[in-house]
Amino acid sequence: MSMSESPSFTPDSGEESPGLYLHIPFCKRRCAYCSFNSHACQSPPAAYLAALADQIRHWSGQEWCRERTFSTLFIGGGTPTIYSGGELAGLVGQCLGLFNFTEDPEITVEANPNTVTVQALTALRRAGVNRLSLGVQSFSDRLLAGLGRSHTTAEACAAIGAARRAGFANINLDLMYGLPGQDAAAWRESLARALAHAPEHLACYELTIEEGTPFSRLVDTGELTLPDEEEALAMAEFTHDFLAQAGLERYEISNYARPGRECRHNLNYWRNGAYLGLGAGAVSCLSGFRFGTVKDPDQFTGLVRAGELPLSEAECLPLEASFRESVVMGLRMIQGVSLARLQHRFGLTPQGYYGKIFEELHRQGLVVVSEESLRLTEAGLPVANQVLARLV
Ligand code: SF4
Repeated sequence: MSMSESPSFTPDSGEESPGLYLHIPFCKRRCAYCSFNSHACQSPPAAYLAALADQIRHWSGQEWCRERTFSTLFIGGGTPTIYSGGELAGLVGQCLGLFNFTEDPEITVEANPNTVTVQALTALRRAGVNRLSLGVQSFSDRLLAGLGRSHTTAEACAAIGAARRAGFANINLDLMYGLPGQDAAAWRESLARALAHAPEHLACYELTIEEGTPFSRLVDTGELTLPDEEEALAMAEFTHDFLAQAGLERYEISNYARPGRECRHNLNYWRNGAYLGLGAGAVSCLSGFRFGTVKDPDQFTGLVRAGELPLSEAECLPLEASFRESVVMGLRMIQGVSLARLQHRFGLTPQGYYGKIFEELHRQGLVVVSEESLRLTEAGLPVANQVLARLV
């Protein structure tokens, strides 16, 4: 498809402000568990940034984008900060100049601890970036080395300090539990060390073994063992209580925030809102039309240079599929999914649509419905994956 033939979209007045996502598919080296679209390189190509800038220009001129006001910008990866502060600030400035944004947009950049300096972070702050998400993962050098991470705990602490000095007042730390060789005491220690930095937001994910990764091969051959289900569950339960005591409210299955610091960009995903994703492997969902971008950065760059849209698969989402997605994604939030929003958008209720499945989940005490929302119960949250699988 050539750029002049890009699809035109019908405005959907029911949608709220969309989010804009830019993907940087490079990291200094690949972690042993990584299944993200990221490629190891020491010096990221300038040509990729030029292609991304081209795509920003192209999409900002499309009717769908011109008619909307975006409320969030998220530069994720990979490791966005593998590019210089000036280069990333240029991308942010270009987006703010070409797209309509709300008055106070949330602008997040993801970073890995050994790729940031006070100067680079100051350049990001000056460009308008107001949220930094650091991939810390653990405060144990032994566990970090086991994960194949390229940074140390000292570098993580230095990065948080640098972010504060650069003026970041909204910092997320990504942490992982259920790691090989990690016990409850080691997880508690990581959480305590994270809290010592008073982060505004924590994302605590259980390690999952994805096919095709070095970890998956090691698990298959028995060379790597993970904490068992019971231990992992105990770590998860400890997390909720420990973080609640520290004033970080759990607002999504794996995410915790101080009041008002919930990630607006991710809330839009969980509410199944519209978003435009640019860059290799990024996905967009606009007015019930979902499409992906080619994953390979060189192919992405080549197609853009040739004046082609670097699109991969695309699908129109039927109303009922979109409804089910909204329920499944919405149940990830602790407050649940708004029944009024579902009714307004789809003219459907979960009780009516799912019938017997809903009744059974309700009888088992796994979901609860009020006048406003449908949500997972305390008993439903630990088995969220099983519950959501029945509603897909
Ligand atoms: S830093 Fe993140 S994206 Fe990069 S290799 Fe590690 S897990 Fe993958």
